[in-house]
Parts: sequence; C-alpha cells; structure tokens
Amino acid sequence: MKILVQKFGGTSVSSRAMREHAINHIARAHEEGYAVVVVVSAMGRAGDPYATDTLLSLIPDEDKLTARDCDLLMSCGETISSVIFGAMLRARGFEVAVLSGAQAGIRTTSEFGDARIAEIDPARIKRELHSGQIVVVSGFQGLTVEGEITTLGRGGSDTTATALGVALDADYIDIFTDVDGIMTADPRIVDGAVRLDRVTYYEICNFAYQGAKVIHPRAVELAMQKNIPIRVRATGRTDLGTLVTSAPHQWEARHPQDRILTGVTHSANLTQVKVQHPLGRSGFQTQVFDAMAQAGISLDFFNVTPTEVVFTVPEGKADAAVSLLTQMGMIVATVPNVAKVAAVGAGIHGVPGVMARIVSALSAEEIEILQSADSNTTIWCLVHEADLIKAIRAIHHKFDLHSLGGM
Ligand code: ADP
Ligand code: ASP
Ligand code: MG
Repeated sequence: MKILVQKFGGTSVSSRAMREHAINHIARAHEEGYAVVVVVSAMGRAGDPYATDTLLSLIPDEDKLTARDCDLLMSCGETISSVIFGAMLRARGFEVAVLSGAQAGIRTTSEFGDARIAEIDPARIKRELHSGQIVVVSGFQGLTVEGEITTLGRGGSDTTATALGVALDADYIDIFTDVDGIMTADPRIVDGAVRLDRVTYYEICNFAYQGAKVIHPRAVELAMQKNIPIRVRATGRTDLGTLVTSAPHQWEARHPQDRILTGVTHSANLTQVKVQHPLGRSGFQTQVFDAMAQAGISLDFFNVTPTEVVFTVPEGKADAAVSLLTQMGMIVATVPNVAKVAAVGAGIHGVPGVMARIVSALSAEEIEILQSADSNTTIWCLVHEADLIKAIRAIHHKFDLHSLGGM
C-alpha cells in the first residue's frame, strides 16, 4: 500500500474555502492511488474562534490553569478541527475515520505542553486504511501511559505528521501551509525571499531550530531517522513546494560553493545579561552557571572571558536571573529587547570571508552587533530588536539570496 501523510496547518483549515483546497489535494492523492492519512491543526490564528491562542485566552491570568488542564484545553482545537474536516471530506464522497491523537496510537512522555512522542502503535490507522478509509488525525496531541492528554509543543502538528509518516513507512509527508515552501527568509519580513526547491534534512533542521517556524525542527529530525521525504507546500497551489531529503544529489556538485547560506532567520524577545567578575572572587564563572542551572533558567549565546560572563535569556526570565545574581553579590547589567539573527547554511564551513560579509552588511546599515558566535553551519549576531528586520534584509541582500530561487 502506497501511503501519503498530508498535514494542513492552521490557516489551511481556517475557512470552508481553504478546507476545499485542502480536500482537493487529498482527492488528487487518492486518485493517484495513495492511502491518505490527514493531520490537521486547530483552525486559524489568534482571534479565530477555535485557534490554539484563542483557547488559551479564555483563561485570564488571575485564574489558575494547571499545565495538565492547559493541554486538555489546547488539544480541543485540533479535536474540533479534525471532526469538522472529516465531515467535509465525507460530504465529498470519501469514507472517513476521524481519530484523536490517542485513538491514533500516539503515546507521549508526560511533559505537559512540550511532550515527546515515545511510541506509536499504528494498528488502528492501518486497519482503517486497509478498509478504504481516509484517516483524519488531530495533530499536536497524544496520550501518556497514565492516560493523560498531552500536547507536543507549539507548532507540534508537524511532529504528529512526520511521526505518523515514520510509523506507517509513508512514501511522502506533505506539510501544507500558507507560504510556497521553505524560503530563504520569512517572506513576511523579506520581500525578495525565494523558495528553495530542495533542501537537506540537516540544512532545514538547523534553520528551524534557529527560528524559521515554517516547520517544527523535531518533525524534521523524525523524518530524517527513516529518510522519508517531506514536501513543504502551499495549500492554495498545486506545485510540489520544497522537497526535504537527505541527499541533494543533482545539485550536490554545486553545493556548498554555490549555496553558502540556506537562509536568514531569527529569534526575538531576548535579554542580554552581562555579569562582571567581582574582584578577588574565585570560581565566579562556575557560580554564575550553577546558579542559573539550579533556577532552571536556560542560557543561550554565552561568552566567557576572564573579566565577564555574558549570555542571553528569554525576556520573561530576565528579572529572575538578575535578582538571583544580584543576591549573590554579582554586578549585573542587562540589555533588554535584543534578538538573535542567524545566517544558516551547511556551506558556511570552511568558506573564508562569510563573517566579514555579514559585518559589512550590518555596518553599512549602522546596525550595532552586540555579540556574535558561529558554528560550522550558522553565524549568529545579537542586535537590538529595533534593528532586527533591517539586519535580516541586509544579510539576505548581501548574500544575493534572492538568486537561490529554483535551487
Ligand atoms: P502552519 O499553521 O501552516 O503550521 P506556521 O505559521 O507554523 O504555519 O508556519 C508558516 C509560517 O512560517 C509562514 O507564514 C511564514 O511567515 C513563516 N516563516 C518563517 N520563516 C520562514 C521561511 N524561511 N520560509 C517560509 N516560511 C517562513
Ligand atoms: N495548534 C498548535 C499551535 O498553534 C499546533 C500546530 O498548529 O502545529 O501551536
Ligand atoms: Mg506550523
């Protein structure tokens, strides 16, 4: 049996008209002889009646929502969406089985709000597929062995889709969304962003971890384990979007020289924290890191020098970090409202002058670089949030990323 998993994101199921487009894709796959498993997200974006953020906004801050109940609440968005989608599919003449994450056999760990898929028992889905049903699964949710409903982290319907693709040994996993595919930058930020036709799991995993939210990085990691190709596609179009595989064979010869960068992305809402070495205090660096670890504050972008420890924390953790360090007698300064711009590309490694070009692009726009770091696939620059969009556009332009369209 040829199996295709097709996932439709929030905007792709937000209206009847969008759901019709989605159903056309399913109908085409069905005509091509695929057994189709459909994964749906909650309908729409913040403000739409049953979107995840709207459900969350039902509980005011002064009320007491537990993490467990929060998952129960959030999971309703995908449950509602799958039932509505299933009913429309049936009206188009298909035999349909609608399954919650739990009914689809998705077992998770018990971290509410950010659970991992521990295992999938695909027996029920297989049974339904064998009897000719199209199976519609509520994304983003699963069940622990204790019988608790969990969610998989924001954007987690992608993870449901690829995990099912792996469990069912699917031919392809289609991630349908509201842009044309994986682009060189968020097209809402950079006008000249272009679609990449082929990327490797490795490239896109880095890109997604650095903030490109077009696909969840964990979803990519899962598909990579079994080498199942992902296609990131626009619901409103019929082309095949961006193909994500392990081997970019036909353009490998041109890579990495021709594609130093895959794209530019960012993560925002950060605070930079600078801790000065108190004179005569030994072991200060260890004390800083231990204190943050014990308080459960995860740090990023750290630099350790003999006189200073510098790092970033998510905005919401900054006050806790500063008050803890101050109580320990440390001298602390912060720079709020900063963002990390990430230039990502497997081709960065070993290519001289990449950082020089980034610095020159940012300097030409008078953008202050507060900190920088690099790995063999990514160069990060910390900038003031006010400069963020300018910085992304400047790097995109400097590396002529608009010319990567069709690669
Ligand atoms: P869905 O609800 O379909 O899962 P998401 O909002 O999670 O959609 O992801 C799609 C969005 O990702 C796009 O609307 C786009 O603004 C954003 N995005 C960020 N970076 C990129 C990128 N490099 N390529 C494409 N889209 C991107
Ligand atoms: N509805 C969930 C969210 O908004 C999951 C998803 O859309 O992938 O995060
Ligand atoms: Mg998403």
